[in-house]
Amino acid sequence: MAVDSPLSSQLGPPACERDAKALHFIEETTSHADSVQDRVLTEILTRNSQTEYLTRFKLNGATDRETFKSKLPIITYEDLQPEIHRIANGDRSAILSAHPISEFLTSSGTSAGERKLMPTIKEELDRRRLLYSLLMPVMNLYVPGLERGKGLYFLFVKSETRTPGGLLARPVLTSYYKSDHFKTRPYDPYNVYTSPNEAILCPDSFQSMYTQMLCGLLQRQQVLRVGAVFASGLLRAIRFLQLNWPQLTQDIETGALNPKLTEPSLREYMDKILKPNPELAECVRHECSKDNWEGIIARIWQNTKYLDVIVTGAMAQYIPTLDYYSGGLPLACTMYASSECYFGLNLNPMCKPSQVSYTIMPNMAYFEFLPHEPDSFGFPRASPPKLVDLVDVEVGKEYELVITTYAGLYRYRVGDILRVTGFHNSAPQFHFVRRKNVLLSIDSDKTDEAELQKAVENASRLLREFNTSVVEYTSYADTRTIPGHYVIYWELLGKDSANSPTDEVLKQCCLAMEESLNSVYRQGRAADNSIGPLEIRVVKNGTFEELMDYAISRGASINQYKVPRCVNFTPIMELLDSRVVSSHFSPALPHWTPERR
Ligand code: AMP
Repeated sequence: MAVDSPLSSQLGPPACERDAKALHFIEETTSHADSVQDRVLTEILTRNSQTEYLTRFKLNGATDRETFKSKLPIITYEDLQPEIHRIANGDRSAILSAHPISEFLTSSGTSAGERKLMPTIKEELDRRRLLYSLLMPVMNLYVPGLERGKGLYFLFVKSETRTPGGLLARPVLTSYYKSDHFKTRPYDPYNVYTSPNEAILCPDSFQSMYTQMLCGLLQRQQVLRVGAVFASGLLRAIRFLQLNWPQLTQDIETGALNPKLTEPSLREYMDKILKPNPELAECVRHECSKDNWEGIIARIWQNTKYLDVIVTGAMAQYIPTLDYYSGGLPLACTMYASSECYFGLNLNPMCKPSQVSYTIMPNMAYFEFLPHEPDSFGFPRASPPKLVDLVDVEVGKEYELVITTYAGLYRYRVGDILRVTGFHNSAPQFHFVRRKNVLLSIDSDKTDEAELQKAVENASRLLREFNTSVVEYTSYADTRTIPGHYVIYWELLGKDSANSPTDEVLKQCCLAMEESLNSVYRQGRAADNSIGPLEIRVVKNGTFEELMDYAISRGASINQYKVPRCVNFTPIMELLDSRVVSSHFSPALPHWTPERR
């Protein structure tokens, strides 16, 4: 029941006293966005005034915005490589941050094929926890009664390594789930998961997923929301159920755990809760054995009120598939975050995916915005535009996000393009438009044009002995199957028809492409099973000319026409697919280890 609190928020009546505090915090912080930003910048610059980085730019202890902006350059990860390298190699001096770097967070964004290493400090965990603590109070405004059930969330840790200097390097969520903030979180009736910590923290992805799915099935009546971080992760769980329901239902029926689960902590946990339940087993079997899996989530977890998954940005491609498996349950995108920094949350989480806007929380970092306005010819402007402060962005305009963090990133370009949709109090709200330079993405992988080009070049070397070359190519992220996979269309020119490349050679070309893609892609293929084998579709000679004719017929200028290196417009896909002469899949997994190359 909603409480009538003196802290009652304009967002709505809070569900409990603790929610009232959280909503009050949101109101306060967004109402004073500019002064909070001032405080954040002052704190960051004061505590780090003696760092090598700020000393180099002669900030001389200044903490005001004007001096900061006039002296510090806007940078990308590449600019910071020397500093990151030194920290990774064990230099513990105050290079970027006065607080010791506690670990590196490995971003899904890559540099030279490897995950970017983001330095972080211990207290950032508190900031992340703070943002997490705001999510349920907001959700409770829209979905009452969530304290009466549980969340079935598929959460996983990934492998971690150490840098030569001994610092841990791992993804931000792995770091969070392994922290005491998560492991020893106090009981919160609004945030009870069906998955035990033992399963979430199990490094073996099969055993982890199996246990989480089994626990979700055993508690199916209590499940009120189903989620994963990204849409692709939830669909992987559905695929897992498709492949494993016979064994899962057998475990439920007999009360004996699948012997493939060997992890002692999981067996110990499951021993306590797994009892023979033939009725439940029959019920799950009845649904899963049907050929038609439409609405399977709502059929098995009948009390589900919404799916909690990110379906903005690249993940929007999964909305139709999620709608299919959930029978059209609402999709809630709750937060916007990265390894560099957690940014903000969606204050209207039950809105349609196309309407999602994230409110950046001004206490998380100091935010600036680089206007993103290519001129009418599509070229960036000659002189760099001025950066705008958080409260000064304009509704309708697009910006690239630039951050200054407590952990020691100063005026750092995140690479995300955001469009302002409105304001909550004085804090702007943003539609996530896209990440810059991403051509293909299935899961957390991000492949850019240069990486694709290099992969095609490397693979096409295998065609030389057949006197064959790739004259044109384009690509497509095919997400109609789970997991999705990259499709590369090739038009070949062979000079010797008696000696054209065989299916075996073209399969090797697929693998060669995979081998040259970045490590996040290869990890998705080799370790996480979140990306399927890459496919080359060879198209008839002249197909790309037809593609150009089609573009010109729709108004493209013949002088400026460039082959699109990625396609997703249905008529173009249909044209390409109707010209396919053969199709070939990668026959093996590309090489990947947690160690950096
Ligand atoms: P990572 O550095 O691997 O943690 O990835 C962070 C990036 O994921 C962000 O910079 C965004 O490009 C993307 N991302 C995170 N949250 C969202 C969201 N809610 N919607 C769309 N993209 C997101």
